[in-house]
Amino acid sequence: MSGPKNATDATRRAQADTVASLPIDTGEDFDLAQKGFIGTIPDARILNEAGHPVWDMSRFDFIKDDAPDTVNPSLWRQAKLNSFHGLFKVTDGVYQVRNFDLSNITFLEGDTGYIVIDPLISAETAAAALALMREHRGDKPVVAVIYTHSHVDHYGGVKGVLSDEDIASGLQIIAPEGFLKAAVSENVLAGNAMGRRATYMYGSMLPPGPQGHVDAGLGKTVSFGKVSLVPPTVSICETGETLTVDGVEIIFQVTPDTEAPAEMNFYFPQFKALCMAENCSCHLHNIITPRGAQIRDAKSWSYYINEAIDLFASRTDVLFASHHWPRWGEDITITFLQKQRDLYKYIHDQTLRLANHGLTPLEIAEDFKLPPTLEAEWYTRGYYGTLSHNTKAIYQRYLGWFDGNPANLHKWPPAEAGRRYVAAIGGADALLEKAQAAFNDGDYRWVAELVNHLVFAEPGLEAARNLQADALEQLGYQAESGPWRAFYLTAAMELRNPRPPSDVPRPAGGDTVRGLPADELLDSLSVRLNGLKAGAQEITLNLTVTDTKETYLVTLTNGVLHHEPDKRADNADATLAITRASLAALALKEKSVADLIDDETLTIEGNEKALTDLLELLDTFDFWFEIVMP
Ligand SMILES: [Zn+2]
Repeated sequence: MSGPKNATDATRRAQADTVASLPIDTGEDFDLAQKGFIGTIPDARILNEAGHPVWDMSRFDFIKDDAPDTVNPSLWRQAKLNSFHGLFKVTDGVYQVRNFDLSNITFLEGDTGYIVIDPLISAETAAAALALMREHRGDKPVVAVIYTHSHVDHYGGVKGVLSDEDIASGLQIIAPEGFLKAAVSENVLAGNAMGRRATYMYGSMLPPGPQGHVDAGLGKTVSFGKVSLVPPTVSICETGETLTVDGVEIIFQVTPDTEAPAEMNFYFPQFKALCMAENCSCHLHNIITPRGAQIRDAKSWSYYINEAIDLFASRTDVLFASHHWPRWGEDITITFLQKQRDLYKYIHDQTLRLANHGLTPLEIAEDFKLPPTLEAEWYTRGYYGTLSHNTKAIYQRYLGWFDGNPANLHKWPPAEAGRRYVAAIGGADALLEKAQAAFNDGDYRWVAELVNHLVFAEPGLEAARNLQADALEQLGYQAESGPWRAFYLTAAMELRNPRPPSDVPRPAGGDTVRGLPADELLDSLSVRLNGLKAGAQEITLNLTVTDTKETYLVTLTNGVLHHEPDKRADNADATLAITRASLAALALKEKSVADLIDDETLTIEGNEKALTDLLELLDTFDFWFEIVMP
């Protein structure tokens, strides 16, 4: 494998410019991130059952002293702040374990046990956090769980804090209304593309190091343990709803369509503590996540932060959240909330102001700046989201991908455009010569654009791939955003070390699909149907999911697969009865129709071939599709 390179002079100059432009560092964040520290486990090293680490902060021991010239100095500072791991006291009765995973897990002390907020990504890391809490605060049971929102880093580790008996007993699991639908659906229909792009965004294939992964901005990185989804037992539907759980009073504020489709903040009167979920964090969050997802509503995000100020701020002594460190004191808390509120609204309003002046996304993003009062704060900086891609998100939410210029209405796709650009410039050698000159000038953005055409025209040309990797790498070194750095450096690694092509698709793990309700499972089949291959074929199936007692009418017509609940057709080609798990196994092609008939989880009346014909029409996605090459 050919490895990373050193920072160039241009990158060193860029890092120095960044240092000169940063806010004054009073050390406040470092105090806040360590305040209330109680204890930890060595290196926060957490193993799975097989003895392999799912989390190990010793891999980030290199993050100390001044920033190396291969890391943006502002990101380096955030990386240091995201390194303080262990159990921290937030206030009497409220404790957090931080940096045992990407997110925070919070423990509230009730009358008889612990209420857990946001049990991390993996069962292993959540269990280790609970063990640390019990070691220092007493061996008490978990009496309830709260999920602040529908992202996996806030529920995936629930089985590390709840036993199967707890779950069977109906122990309270409290979540905002719409949680389950958002949690199962957000990543399903575009799941393969999103999952592959997430490998770029979180740098999960990059080795940690000054020339590799440093920080995700939002937290250090993601853990790799056992992930599960246990549905909530209590849905919070309205702001102002109050619950008393094990003697702890909780006042809820629902905040739909903010950082997640289903999310909520809440306030604890007896602790004078406010949990802002992931609606506030110590940086600028994503309005569009670069891995890809639907665009978030910055306007309602800002609105709900303002509502939280009205509802809770004047009686809040401490504010904590699902990532990063808390803030103490009413004045400090209100200022923080106001600036977070204004950060999202400023980006929203100013993007639309500029769009209404006729500027297009690239033009808006290029010179977009925060006003001095927002720019003066560290917690408005783009460690995760950036002003650049967030302004594009606002534009896209209101105006779409098309900038109105018909030159961009029907452009050639990358390989076709690439061949034409390379020819227009006078061939590969001429293009590389011009690109190398731009590289020598430090104009890496231009190198990336120019050489991208050559890589897509001639992906086998190693000199092109290597120069492209060199340029993207310097952009990665300069990036303040953890995801941007990870995208650039992962791309550089793949350009230098292309994966051998595969004749057969290499699908992602089927865990998500195996856990889906039948409705979403059938939805996922619709986007796998190869419409042109289906052509004029028509298939009608009556389907009963035997364990959940759901019935669906499944029809293929006009190259489209439909499923409609509670309907049946008298003239169906076949009538099927199948368990949900076997339906998932069929979808994943882990079992054949014959296997399932044999193990008696599938019965078919009518024409069995109708089902096998339909399965033949489903594509299987290759998780490792190329991103920076054709
Ligand atoms: Zn999160």
